[in-house]
Amino acid sequence: MCGIVGYTGNEPAIDFLLDGLARLEYRGYDSAGVAVLNGGNIAVEKTVERIGSLKRQTRNGRSLPGRAGIGHTRWATHGAPSLANAHPHLSADGRFAVVHNGILENDAALRRELAAEGVAFRSETDTEIIPHLIRRYYEGDPVAAVAKAVERLAGSYALGVLCADCPDRLIAARRFSPLLIGLADGATYLASDVTALLPRTRRVLELADGEIALLTPQGARLFDREGRPVEREASRVTFDVGAAEKGGWAHFMQKEIMEQPQAVAQTVERRISGGEIVFSGLRLDAALLSRIRRIAIVACGSAYHAGAVGKYVFEELLRIPTELDLASEFRYRNPLVGADVLTVVISQSGETADTLAALREAKARGSHVLSIVNVVGSSIARASDDVLYTFAGPEIAVATTKGYSTQLALLYLFAVWAARLLGRLSADEAGRLLDAIRALPQAMERALRLAPQMEDLASRSPTDGSIFFIGRNLDYAVAQEAALKLKEISYLPAQACAGGELKHGSISLIEEGRTVIALDCCDRLSDKLAGNIREVQARGARVIACVPEGRAEPSAADETVRVPAVHPLLTASVEVIPFQLYAYFVARDRGCDVDKPRNLAKSVTVE
Ligand code: GLU
Repeated sequence: MCGIVGYTGNEPAIDFLLDGLARLEYRGYDSAGVAVLNGGNIAVEKTVERIGSLKRQTRNGRSLPGRAGIGHTRWATHGAPSLANAHPHLSADGRFAVVHNGILENDAALRRELAAEGVAFRSETDTEIIPHLIRRYYEGDPVAAVAKAVERLAGSYALGVLCADCPDRLIAARRFSPLLIGLADGATYLASDVTALLPRTRRVLELADGEIALLTPQGARLFDREGRPVEREASRVTFDVGAAEKGGWAHFMQKEIMEQPQAVAQTVERRISGGEIVFSGLRLDAALLSRIRRIAIVACGSAYHAGAVGKYVFEELLRIPTELDLASEFRYRNPLVGADVLTVVISQSGETADTLAALREAKARGSHVLSIVNVVGSSIARASDDVLYTFAGPEIAVATTKGYSTQLALLYLFAVWAARLLGRLSADEAGRLLDAIRALPQAMERALRLAPQMEDLASRSPTDGSIFFIGRNLDYAVAQEAALKLKEISYLPAQACAGGELKHGSISLIEEGRTVIALDCCDRLSDKLAGNIREVQARGARVIACVPEGRAEPSAADETVRVPAVHPLLTASVEVIPFQLYAYFVARDRGCDVDKPRNLAKSVTVE
């Protein structure tokens, strides 16, 4: 996820490029860059600072007066956020410039192929492959060259291409990443989303998957995969800029909840090649893994709750004792870790101060540290021995949703991969689990359809007093995350209690009318939880149960939420969704600042 802009028209391109990039900065801001056609040559300006620096570097655009150009604000997936990796990327002869949003999946093979032909790469990005490929196929027709190049690409892309031989043209192409064309008198625009276009035009053409477009100041011509012209009417955008940034959703949190299936698909599919899980570049191998006697999962907040799921999954599949620790406790505990302990740290931002300190502590004691992080090149990613990126895209809402879901997905994949390596899972069992993991986005999509029910439940939720979430095993891990979601954005006291633990104290809080949410997806322990449901009902609680679709026996609960049935080890991924929605609707109805809850910050870089 990143921002792309492009312009061809009668005015200097740079004005729109800088303005459009500033409006797209929320999509990613690891670096930014522009390429403008200046007197028959492509001139490039890049920064690893915010867009404002590009303004200064180009003297408010005056140093780049050309009338066709492209721009990019990056959210790194391949290679750290650096000047060399910033887009636009150029072909070796500098005649083609490319900006790219997305992730190529066959980048390693294409890189090898081009390197064998003598191409010297200047960045670590997957993107740089594209201008080199276009150059290789160019025989005077830039659209044909782009068509041939994109045919070679696996994965997702939205592209803006500038060709030094074509003074007032841009070429655009897309597959699985968004791209729009804006039409106005004497100017044609390109943008990843409508936010950038709205100040200039409301006449918009959406490029479909697999299509290529040729943009001139007079308009755009579209072509399908086979190069046949496509006719499409421009549509008129009626909503405002604020709504556009959120893709039409009322809050970033709602948008991010809805993006989860796509985010998880991206996390998972990038790791699969020929039906096998592949983590390229990992130092952890069979020899190192076979020396591991214990796993320490260390994290804070929701990442800690993802770790709670990880603990169950690791112990089940790897049969290696797994401990879960809060980073803030671990770092000051004189922890018992060494070369026979694998430390797994989890952090969305990769900047969480306590987690970073815990990581350093573990490393200093000789433990191999594997981190699960969303932000490429972040401090935790850099300090770890190995890093697995979640590729969830930027998460703007303070309360994490897609960050958490993609962490779960990676924990599952890692467990299956490591269990195979250790010979603790047969190829058949691993294959079945992998199929189940790959089917999760679809099940999550269906879980999202519970939104109306959760909105209704939220409208009847208590406005004071504490809400209880109870569950056992993986259900308990989800209960902790569900309670935190509700607390952090709605400010309602909520607590999670392991079903079997209720009677050891917390049940004294149960009284007439108390809401108890019983997470009951763990079939194996459903009878046990039914006992807990009856215990709280006997004391006047109103119980809402969450069960898998297709469960035959009726639940003793007062109301039931049914989530898609998935593999028993993976239930957390679908079960959490209705309760993210529930927290969202409760907070919204209470008039809370959903995306920026009081007293909290997105990236907790202080102790
Ligand atoms: N994969 C490309 C990179 O890492 C593009 C990422 C983006 O969409 O910003 O540079």
